[in-house]
Parts: sequence; structure tokens; C-alpha cells
Amino acid sequence: MGGIGILGGTFNPVHNGHVRHAVEVAEALGLERVALMPCATPPHKESAGLLPFALRVELLRAAVKGIPFLKVETLEGELSGPSYTWRTLNEWARRHEGEPLPYFMMGAEAFAALDTWNHGLKLPQVAHLVMVPRGGDDGSVFHESIRSFWPGSLPEVCDVPLGRETVELAGGGRCTFLPVPRLDISSTFIRARWRSGRSLAALMSAEELAVLHAHAEEVSACWATARPR
Ligand code: ATP
Ligand code: MG
Repeated sequence: MGGIGILGGTFNPVHNGHVRHAVEVAEALGLERVALMPCATPPHKESAGLLPFALRVELLRAAVKGIPFLKVETLEGELSGPSYTWRTLNEWARRHEGEPLPYFMMGAEAFAALDTWNHGLKLPQVAHLVMVPRGGDDGSVFHESIRSFWPGSLPEVCDVPLGRETVELAGGGRCTFLPVPRLDISSTFIRARWRSGRSLAALMSAEELAVLHAHAEEVSACWATARPR
């Protein structure tokens, strides 16, 4: 099938949940590669407690080592101001002129909040959106979000998807519901474990953990102020 996937996030830090998300979607859709794209200045999150962009990139590089179809995309680090996905994906389109639209992957919590993003509801113009559920049973979140964001895209009565489903949106563009397994961990959970001096084994790769420990002082100073998100 081919195609490029993009998984955007703050990645503070990247963890095995993100990596599995990227691997599962890549395999389910037969993608050529997935770019993990850290945001430089998150519009929705305060920057207190956020590791510097360069260190989050270094952690990402360690996390994808040995997985040839996963790449790290530093595009948002080149753009100034808040890292709005709309702007980033337009810049992506400019740099990849003539290529098919990328697949922009997101968890259900991010998809359901798209209407709060800068030009969030226009994103299907620049990417094929892919929603991955939290527990495999978020088909109703998918349908409810589509009904409210892009009215007229779904018939009034239709079954909630149990398996993969692609909806052609009324205004153009497409969204896919892709129920792949998900590891129930988050960066918030990892930062809390780190703060209490607990082991991070099996939450991230050994290579990534080594990078984190090599920057232990900086990480502790930064995450001391991080609040749950
Ligand atoms: P935080 O706890 O700081 O919010 P996070 O673990 O949610 O961090 P983000 O950087 O906010 O990570 O998420 C980036 C993207 O990855 C989002 O689309 C989010 O829905 C998705 N994601 C986060 N955690 C997981 C997970 N465990 N499995 C699959 N996808 C995830
Ligand atoms: Mg999150």
C-alpha cells in the first residue's frame, strides 16, 4: 500500500506506548515509514516541566534505533511560534509536493479534542486522519466526533465501528478508525515514576533509558515542576 505516517506529540518523554502505536498503525496500513514528530512549543500544554526540544529528539532517536521504518521528524523545531499541526502539515505539504497526503495518527483523546486545535477541523485537507482508540472500544467516540465536527458525513443511523472503518468527510478528506492494541502507559506516568525514584524498565528501550540517565540532573530539575497532564 505504501504511504507515510506521522505521529505528532510532545514526547516528554517518548515511551513504548508511542513506539507500539507507530508500529501497529504502520503494519495495519502497510505504511512505508512513520515519522515521530515532536512539537517544539506545545500550544495546549504549558512549557514548565517540558524537556528541551534537543533532548526530546535525542530520546526519540534512541527509541527508534533498530526499527528501520520509524524516523524522527524535527520539522517543528525549524518553525517559530506555537507548533500548530495545521501550519506544520501545510509546511510538510510544501516540502513533499506531488506526493500523496500523509496519514496523521492520533489517540482517541486527541481526536475528540480536534475542535479546540488551531484550524483543527481543516486538518483532513492536508492529511488522512487515523484515530487509534484507548481500549479498542472507542468506536462511539469516533462517530460522535465526526458527527459534531463534520455534520453530514455519516448516515443518521449507523452501527458504531468494531473494526477498521474509513469515513469520507462531507467537506472532503478522510478519517479512519483503526482499533489496534494500545499499551496503557503515558509520559505523565513515567515522569511520576522518575520523580519517586522508581524503575522505568520496560516502559522505554534500554537505549532511551541510557540517554535519560546520562542527562539525569537536567531531567530531574525539569520534571520536578512537571504537573500531571
Ligand atoms: P502526557 O502524559 O504528557 O500527555 P502522552 O503519553 O499522552 O503524554 P503525548 O506526547 O501527549 O504522550 O502523545 C502523543 C500522541 O501519542 C497522541 O496522539 C496520543 O494520543 C498518543 N499516545 C499517547 N500515549 C499513547 C499510548 N500509550 N498508546 C498509543 N498512543 C498513545
Ligand atoms: Mg497526552
